Amino acid sequence: MSDTLVAFDDVLASYDPALGLEVHVELNTATKMFCGCPAVFGGEPNTQVCPTCLGLPGAMPVVNGKAVESAIRIGLALNCEIAEWCRFARKNYFYPDMPKNFQTSQYDEPICFEGWMDVDVDGETFRVEIERAHMEEDTGKSLHVGGATGRIHGADYSLVDYNRAGIPLIEIVTKPIRGAGAKAPAVARAYVSQLRDLIVALGVSEARMDQGNLRADVNLSLAPKDSGTLGTRTETKNVNSFRSVERAVRYEMQRHAAILDSGGAIFQETRHWHEDTGVTTSGRPKSDADDYRYFPEPDLVPVAPSREWVEELRGTLPENPVERRARLQAEWGYTDLEMRDVVASGLLGPIEETVAAGASAQAARKWWIAELTRRANDAGVDVVDLGVSPAQVAAVQALVDAGTINDKLARQVFDGLLAGEGTPEEIVAARGLAVVSDDGALGAAVDAAIAANPDVADKIRDGKVAAAGALIGAVMKEMRGQADAARVRELILEKLA
Ligand SMILES: [Zn+2]
Repeated sequence: MSDTLVAFDDVLASYDPALGLEVHVELNTATKMFCGCPAVFGGEPNTQVCPTCLGLPGAMPVVNGKAVESAIRIGLALNCEIAEWCRFARKNYFYPDMPKNFQTSQYDEPICFEGWMDVDVDGETFRVEIERAHMEEDTGKSLHVGGATGRIHGADYSLVDYNRAGIPLIEIVTKPIRGAGAKAPAVARAYVSQLRDLIVALGVSEARMDQGNLRADVNLSLAPKDSGTLGTRTETKNVNSFRSVERAVRYEMQRHAAILDSGGAIFQETRHWHEDTGVTTSGRPKSDADDYRYFPEPDLVPVAPSREWVEELRGTLPENPVERRARLQAEWGYTDLEMRDVVASGLLGPIEETVAAGASAQAARKWWIAELTRRANDAGVDVVDLGVSPAQVAAVQALVDAGTINDKLARQVFDGLLAGEGTPEEIVAARGLAVVSDDGALGAAVDAAIAANPDVADKIRDGKVAAAGALIGAVMKEMRGQADAARVRELILEKLA
């Protein structure tokens, strides 16, 4: 059954949206949160486990100091207070891929609290207030086999892989974000995208949304316009791209409005986002915190980071994002509009890396914003998840700069990169894409073009040099775009001088 939706503009005529974002960041520590098991991705199922992360009787957890350090650095970068003393708590619930039957998390004593982050949307700044950032552990993974969709419904059997159980997570929770109005979907997207930039700059996570290193839950509620109240919210879980965050907010605004318009009430629940159809569907009723019967974790000592350590970590923070954007814009010579596009696309980091790898700022922008963003949109993924690296983009541009290929041929090199055909150099060789600048081959093509276009040739002989364009075009067509256009022009003018 499909939902009734209200047109987006009509939603805003009657309601004020409020957003809330919960982002889970999987840390890139060498070991798990409470044991020494390796935290690397991709091992054979159930090979990175021990009595502690399997929840066996008698096993005792120990806090991973590096994870605490990463949590504090994230908190400081988000302008949070850092607790002088805090504890872990048990969150009790049953989940088949959580072997302990409770999750070790933090409850009323988070390590980081009361922060903020400014996000840019179309040149306007929104201050997103951070309620808390706390430490917890990830669950294992269930694999449902035999069903069509990979979900448990229709599956023949299910398997559980506990390699991920106990990987350190930081959950970052915003306060309700109000006043964004029609920009609510864009603000949600910008927040997640700029938060990812920050996490990457901190170096604390791989932060790949498509691989689940960074997962966003999107809360949305509507209140009657100008009432100043908050409506009942729904929570759309695990939205795994920037673009889906934006679409999910938009969809929920339109769905809530239709229910409220018809006199109905919003049911507080989790929702699932479906990338393919662009809709959310009902998940489970959303529990209140007291249902989890939190209590302080008795097997772990409290975490009490010294003020000296916190200040030392403050000294390791990357440049403030606002200053960084201003500095890069000045270094790169981008216009305000160009910079806005880059920030909105979440491409500041990749472009910076591409420039560091040797490409000019304008070339880096051109490939990421024009070429790769278009391809990502066609594929329905975020451009950072397309699978082309900054180093590869710089390598393609180096081939253009060297005159080996031109921009048009470079697009075919990107085809090859996306198809996994090897390095840019290998693709140029395998596909025979190099520009021909050899006078022998070019001369023959120029002679043929002159012979086929005697009128044009006469004009050039009479001094109308601009007419050469037509002959260059004919040569390019003959040589499938691979002729060195500058050399072709010289040859034409020499031959008709
Ligand atoms: Zn373990």
